[in-house]
Amino acid sequence: MDRFSAALKVVLDGKKPGRQDIVTLLSARGSQAAALFRAAGRVRRAKVGDAVHLRAIIEFSSHCRNNCLYCGLRRDNRRLPRYRLDEGEIMSAVDKAAAMGFRTVVLQSGEDPLYSGPYIAGLVEKIKRRRGVAVTLSLGQRSREDYRIWREAGADRYLLKHETSDEELFRCLKPGSSLQARLECLHWLKELGYQAGSGNMVGLPGQSLDSLAGDILLMRELETDMAGIGPFLPHPDTPLKEAAAGSLELTLKTLAVARLCLPRAHLPATTALGTLAPGGRKAALTCGANVIMVNFTPPEVRDRYLIYPQKADITDEPRRALENVKALLAGLARPVARDYGHAIKFSGGDCT
Ligand code: SAM
Ligand code: SF4
Repeated sequence: MDRFSAALKVVLDGKKPGRQDIVTLLSARGSQAAALFRAAGRVRRAKVGDAVHLRAIIEFSSHCRNNCLYCGLRRDNRRLPRYRLDEGEIMSAVDKAAAMGFRTVVLQSGEDPLYSGPYIAGLVEKIKRRRGVAVTLSLGQRSREDYRIWREAGADRYLLKHETSDEELFRCLKPGSSLQARLECLHWLKELGYQAGSGNMVGLPGQSLDSLAGDILLMRELETDMAGIGPFLPHPDTPLKEAAAGSLELTLKTLAVARLCLPRAHLPATTALGTLAPGGRKAALTCGANVIMVNFTPPEVRDRYLIYPQKADITDEPRRALENVKALLAGLARPVARDYGHAIKFSGGDCT
């Protein structure tokens, strides 16, 4: 048996893959890559089904105290006009999403301390009381106490991508922070009972296949409930403006291997993939993805949440974006999920 087939067998048999097995899978080309994608599609269908979960994302603040080298919202990007949404504006976006049938809202922002712990807790409580939707938060690294009161207020999930498992690369890309501190936040979130999501960027400058394999092993170790895996896209007003974007093929392979190693995780077909290539999200859905985000950030401020240039959905109004997503799913014979799309617990026996 060749190395690729042997590595594929390891994960399909539910055995613990070694770092080299994952590197072998990520190196697949041609017919082997096609076999990897087919396997990921089969595992996705068997473990999480055909239905695709839709999430409404509301980007409520583009202010950020951090200076991540890759991100357009970084503190030192003085060219970006900033905004903050108030409670009324956030609630009206939530109302719109709920009225259109969305059962999850994702509140995301830069790390903006102006939104205090108690303020966010009050907001979550109000959303839960008024709309009964699942609430995912993605506000970056905060204190354990903030996470605790938000969970108590009813927040269901938290997204905090680990970004890269390579400690040195992490330190270089996120000045003043450490992978260890980020992982501590992820451990707190799990302890507090959140469905916790992690994830990484693919194609970061200085990233190797070995380091990508480390990302997948780390997410297995964390037993992550959701994993956002998308390509790095250079932003012209950041120090990484000259760097090359992550490739579509490597991102799809990373997603496919993640599906094989985290069979029951929720894996989005990311907006970044849709931005990188016109068919990016469709391809992701055939390689293991089972979640799509629809943007409900008010159109007046949407272009001020520019993480990277030209987000795929930047101009689409939610109604039109939803129509496009539904057409995409219909073309793939994938139904829209009707339930909340909570985490299916990572269970033993699949890839232990
Ligand atoms: N501030 C929070 C945080 O960092 O966790 C949440 C918002 S942040 C904009 C959301 C995600 O955007 C990050 O986790 C990162 O993976 C992604 N991101 C930032 N810059 C990017 C870039 N240039 N290309 C691709 N993804 C990027
Ligand atoms: Fe801020 Fe998040 Fe962007 Fe880093 S990735 S600069 S924490 S918004």
